[in-house]
Amino acid sequence: MARHLDNPPPRFTDDVVPEGAVVDGETHEGEVEDGSFDYVVVGSGAAGAVAAHALAESGASVAIVEEGPWVKTREFGESVYGAFKRMFRDAGTQVIEGRSFVPLIQGRCVGGSTVMNSAIAHRTPEDVLDDWTARFGLGGAITAKALEPHFDALERQLHAHAVFDDALGQNSRMFLDEARAHGLPAERMHRYEEGCRGSARCFTGCPNGAKQGMNVAHVPWALALGARLYCSCKVERVVVERGRAVGVVAWTTSTEPDARRPRRVRLHARRGVIVAASTIQSPNLLRRSGLRARSLGEHFQCHPGVGLAGMFDRPVDMGFGATQGAESLALRRSDKIKLETLAMPPELAAVRIPGVGRELMQRFGLFPRLGVWVMTVRAEAEGTVRPAWSGRDKVRWTPAPIDMDRARRGMALLARMMFEAGAREVWPGLHGVPTAIHSIDQVRLIDEVAPDPRAFGFIATHLFGACRMGPDPRASVVGPDFQAHEVAGLYVVDSSVFPTNLGVNPQHSIMAMSRLAATRIAAGEVRSRVAA
Ligand SMILES: Cc1cc2nc3c(=O)[nH]c(=O)nc-3n(C[C@H](O)[C@H](O)[C@H](O)COP(=O)(O)OP(=O)(O)OC[C@H]3O[C@@H](n4cnc5c(N)ncnc54)[C@H](O)[C@@H]3O)c2cc1C
Ligand code: SF4
Repeated sequence: MARHLDNPPPRFTDDVVPEGAVVDGETHEGEVEDGSFDYVVVGSGAAGAVAAHALAESGASVAIVEEGPWVKTREFGESVYGAFKRMFRDAGTQVIEGRSFVPLIQGRCVGGSTVMNSAIAHRTPEDVLDDWTARFGLGGAITAKALEPHFDALERQLHAHAVFDDALGQNSRMFLDEARAHGLPAERMHRYEEGCRGSARCFTGCPNGAKQGMNVAHVPWALALGARLYCSCKVERVVVERGRAVGVVAWTTSTEPDARRPRRVRLHARRGVIVAASTIQSPNLLRRSGLRARSLGEHFQCHPGVGLAGMFDRPVDMGFGATQGAESLALRRSDKIKLETLAMPPELAAVRIPGVGRELMQRFGLFPRLGVWVMTVRAEAEGTVRPAWSGRDKVRWTPAPIDMDRARRGMALLARMMFEAGAREVWPGLHGVPTAIHSIDQVRLIDEVAPDPRAFGFIATHLFGACRMGPDPRASVVGPDFQAHEVAGLYVVDSSVFPTNLGVNPQHSIMAMSRLAATRIAAGEVRSRVAA
């Protein structure tokens, strides 16, 4: 196998790429009009990379088209700004619009959001799958039994395991002790990693090559099996001829402001186009490709997350530990919330530290004694995804009153747990509550805060819906076989097809669903619809 990079000798899997396997839109001269592939996969994140690898494994020829650049492990640094600029969509400035603005964070690079995520791996809860079967008419298509071999394979391939002692960190250790003392079962996170050193830097890309993101796993593995990657190439539309998907038209992209004029890239797909551009970009790509399903862009859901910081009288050292090391699922079904820890380096912790000027610097000096615990809500509210006039994506969503009530109760619970664990102060970050509260009695101020989304510093990273799966073309975009109702040979395999959110971290479910879809497509189990 030829080395893509001449020096130094490869240390990471993304350093070893077969000769000619990558067409980089940032440097490629001229237009690209390549020959045909069996499948063209749009997006190289959790869904796209796994689908591409499964298709390549079946012997099919595969092109992966990714809008963002391939940032290699050896390039990952400590600069949060640099990482946002190069690897995050819109440099991390996307927001969900509604009663409040909620930051919406997504990756835009080879590996997608798996490059900056915390590597947490959760199987889809069976009650969620049962609900999909019962309420959304999926029949026996998506069941725990059907997904099981895919979860098993992914867990083996990506080394999913509970965080080891030497990478757990004090923030997670304190949470585990306190949750159990509080009567809440709690566990170490299962994560995809091999050799995590607890550097708490997952958010800017794992500099140690330990996290098994798609950038170091299924993308290079697919290339080793003969797939071709077109990075820094944004798919403008899927080409549909006589009711059938036959390829894509893309344009080269760049993160540099003085970039050359974009070049056109045309790729042909003999057997199908697999859309895996994420919950936000997939529906708008289908729209640009001429699909008009009534439910396209509807039923968007998320898990809004929010955290609070506690200042302890003993060292916590959040700069050490797996980025997210511990969790409690005890309230997943009853209260629709999930509790987690979050470790981070000082420059990221700054966003959780209240105040300005001298006050901010004084608090910042307390970083070694800070802990951050977070919760996510399995929100009931639904929103929409549409194209914006600027060419970007417009997401509208407002949490429902019941979601706000659950978020408020979750915050109060975490604050109580922090005081019981020995916090001197808790910084709730909630409008209407003092910047710092000093005793467990004061937690009632959180219980009483107005359940107004504008008071909460939510952030959204777990995204679902907008190309819903179902048997009825009037109420869904793709069938239970992942194929678009309107276009033969056009498949959507990311979490945009999920009928609901999950209540647990989604990447494992996304990968397993995508692997299931790709395996069925490659085996000819999905019958192509009769082209219109
Ligand atoms: C900070 C953060 C932390 C997270 N932590 C966890 C975690 O620990 N565990 C977990 O389960 N989940 C986590 N998630 C969520 C998880 O990473 C995502 O749910 C998952 O990666 C989504 O998979 P996807 O394939 O749908 O989209 P992505 O992984 O986002 O990949 C989509 C890719 O498609 C590309 N694309 C989009 N449009 C086009 C186009 N037109 N042409 C070409 N390419 C296109 C994008 O650039 C992107 O690279 C986290 C997310 C974030 C942002
Ligand atoms: S905590 Fe550090 S070493 Fe561990 S996976 Fe994340 S970035 Fe890599």
